[in-house]
Amino acid sequence: MEKELLIRHLIQNGYLSSKEVIDAMREVPREIFVPESMKKHAYDDTPLEIGYGQTISAPHMVAIMSEALNLKRNSKVLEIGTGTGYHAAVTAKIVKDGHVYTVERIEKLAEEARKNFEKIGIENVTVVVGDGSVGLPEYSPFDRIYATCAAPAVPPRLIEQLSEGGKMLIPVGGRICDLILIEKRNGITEKNLGGCAFVPMIGEEGFDG
Ligand code: SAH
Repeated sequence: MEKELLIRHLIQNGYLSSKEVIDAMREVPREIFVPESMKKHAYDDTPLEIGYGQTISAPHMVAIMSEALNLKRNSKVLEIGTGTGYHAAVTAKIVKDGHVYTVERIEKLAEEARKNFEKIGIENVTVVVGDGSVGLPEYSPFDRIYATCAAPAVPPRLIEQLSEGGKMLIPVGGRICDLILIEKRNGITEKNLGGCAFVPMIGEEGFDG
């Protein structure tokens, strides 16, 4: 599939609706975030192998999560699980005047992501190597937090690092999991957005490595 067909497919299936998210997905070239051998599949709506047993998220999942987070132009965002950086790049395009902090536990992937952001001139992303299951307290609070790996339960420290009025999206369960939307406004509300599949979050508040 080519990029424009993919975008049309995502709109027709109801995954994409807001101008900001559509523009961001149009602007980010997914092919640079996938290995050479996968480039011909860059605009297929599926996850693809990126090495180290990890995958680049499917475009529809990036679309669903970007829409559900209701990102603002100036949002300060925390992503857990950078991979090669595709989702963070889409987020960075939406939060043009904001910033994305993204944590990746596999150093080689973090390095690759940094190179990818440089290649396409994205400057509002900071990649940190470490265990994102405990968040990034030194940069908190965040207006939005999302994880692209599945945790056994919602890590309490991530909720602490969410600002008042903030939203968080996190897959909870095993490889087959539920996408949970959390809102922090006079307390915490949780909504299950439905089933999904993600690689596991490995770490202190995640699964054993
Ligand atoms: N956001 C990526 C998805 C990559 S897959 C994209 O746009 O395609 C999820 C990533 O989460 C993997 O690279 C994996 O190494 C990473 N991960 C798993 N547990 C983690 C943790 N505790 N902290 C940081 N990264 C983690």
